[in-house]
Amino acid sequence: MLACLVERFVAENDTDSILEPEKSEDSILKDLDIEGSIDYGLTTTDIASKDFGGIYAVKPLAFIRPAGADDIARVIRSALQSPTITVAARGNGHSINGQAMADHGLVIDMKSMGHNNRIDVNVASMYVDVGGRVLWTDVLKRCLGYGLAPKSWTDYLDLTVGGTLSNAGVSGQAFRFGPQTSTVMELEVVTGIGVKTVCSNSQNSELFFSVLGGLGQFGIITRARIMLQHAPDMVRWIRVVYSEFDEFTRDAELLIMSESFNYVEGFVIVNSDDPVTGWPSVPLASNQSFDPTHLPKKTGPVLYFLELALHYNKHDDSSTVNTLVEKFLRRLTFVEQLRFEIDSTYMDFLLRVNHAEQAARGSGIWDTPHPWLNMFVSKRDIAAFNRVVFQNIIKGGVNGPLLTYPLLRSKWDSRSSVVLPQSDIFYLVALLRFTHAHPKESEIKQMVAQNNEIVQTCIKNGFDFKLYLPHYESTVEWKKHFGDQWIRFVERKSQFDPKAVLAPGQKIFTRND
Ligand code: FAD
Repeated sequence: MLACLVERFVAENDTDSILEPEKSEDSILKDLDIEGSIDYGLTTTDIASKDFGGIYAVKPLAFIRPAGADDIARVIRSALQSPTITVAARGNGHSINGQAMADHGLVIDMKSMGHNNRIDVNVASMYVDVGGRVLWTDVLKRCLGYGLAPKSWTDYLDLTVGGTLSNAGVSGQAFRFGPQTSTVMELEVVTGIGVKTVCSNSQNSELFFSVLGGLGQFGIITRARIMLQHAPDMVRWIRVVYSEFDEFTRDAELLIMSESFNYVEGFVIVNSDDPVTGWPSVPLASNQSFDPTHLPKKTGPVLYFLELALHYNKHDDSSTVNTLVEKFLRRLTFVEQLRFEIDSTYMDFLLRVNHAEQAARGSGIWDTPHPWLNMFVSKRDIAAFNRVVFQNIIKGGVNGPLLTYPLLRSKWDSRSSVVLPQSDIFYLVALLRFTHAHPKESEIKQMVAQNNEIVQTCIKNGFDFKLYLPHYESTVEWKKHFGDQWIRFVERKSQFDPKAVLAPGQKIFTRND
């Protein structure tokens, strides 16, 4: 069947010289003829061997700076001539567990891709065409010049378009528009057989949906067409605090069903005066403070807050904005005196984590390891998850943001490669751990061990959950992760990357001959 699929794909595409005879690694590297440049002789301290997680470091054969999509196709076709060489696209290297690395393979530096930095806004049709290497920060800035913006974001925008679309891309807008993968109209992809293909819902649709959330397994995204909407000038940015988890989740779910605010996220904080993880982390401005005497007498080890944003324009009457905000907040049951709000430009609001990055760089904790854990937990199990994880295992916090907010399954396209928990509503849970400036290896190991403990606790309790930005070491675990989608995932791999050349750092498939 594999052979048939390859033959069919080759026949359908202009693929002269794809299946060339085998060559040695050395001669492949020597003969690699691209317009861009190639770095050999790398060490594990080079950028190609590192990522934001800082836990893994593997040495590739070479780091390739392609000029454009055609160079990527050439690299993949050359790799196919060896029985062992793999190819990994490296976006901005913001993975945690080496997903963009290639042990003894070729790492493609997407960010250096000269011909691929286009950001073309089509105002009439309300879309933007962007190179796969482009950072969302740059997409935002360019689109705002036309009064437009993508609908769905990530919290942090210095991530590449190709990197987030290979996962999903979620933030507080996803309850309305779905993840970023739900806002893509068309892709240009170089597949695992080195063929450049344009795909969409109506053209090469199997490739299109495979690649969206496909963990880089089926092709390298070199261009994406993203839907746009009119951008507001301003947002009213609000945080409201809860001591009870059931009230917090009831209100969060009410808000995502009613579509009143434009952005809804939720956070867990430690019920203490810790400046990073406790009360002081909630206020939005330096003239605001969190007065814990307003909390009910009996509270637990952690508290919760909802973060909300309402879009408006500069010329809108402020009393109209105030009236709307009061109307939406009236139905909620937060601790009344623990409400914080500011007005912000839309751009500053979307760049809020980029601003926090500057502070983290200043204190030396941006470049230290980040053993993050991201997961989706079914609504059915989120209350139990709160009891065993938030209020117990990590009741002392994770020395960084701890997110949890609901999302609607109906906004995710089941044809994409992302796998989700069963229920209609599920919660994103993100443990965004930071360390101090000079952590010991044992401290990092402890954090990784706590992540594993949380995952094992979920399994033991029979929670319906999936890892987001998943990381597994064995095929057996991946099979379990994909569940009834595993067969489809494997078939897609057979069709678009039959020799398992692409994204070896995900450790889903092994390169075959
Ligand atoms: P990389 O880490 O370079 O690559 C990730 C994977 O995608 C690898 O397997 C790689 O081979 C593959 N890949 C890269 N480029 C391409 C391409 N063009 N075509 C095909 N495959 C490709 N995620 C969210 O959803 N929401 C958030 O709010 C969010 N915030 C984050 C904040 C920070 C500070 C960090 C570090 C990460 C955050 N993430 C978030 C996670 C982020 O979306 C993923 O780590 C994403 O993979 C990062 O993109 P990247 O460009 O750095 O990809």
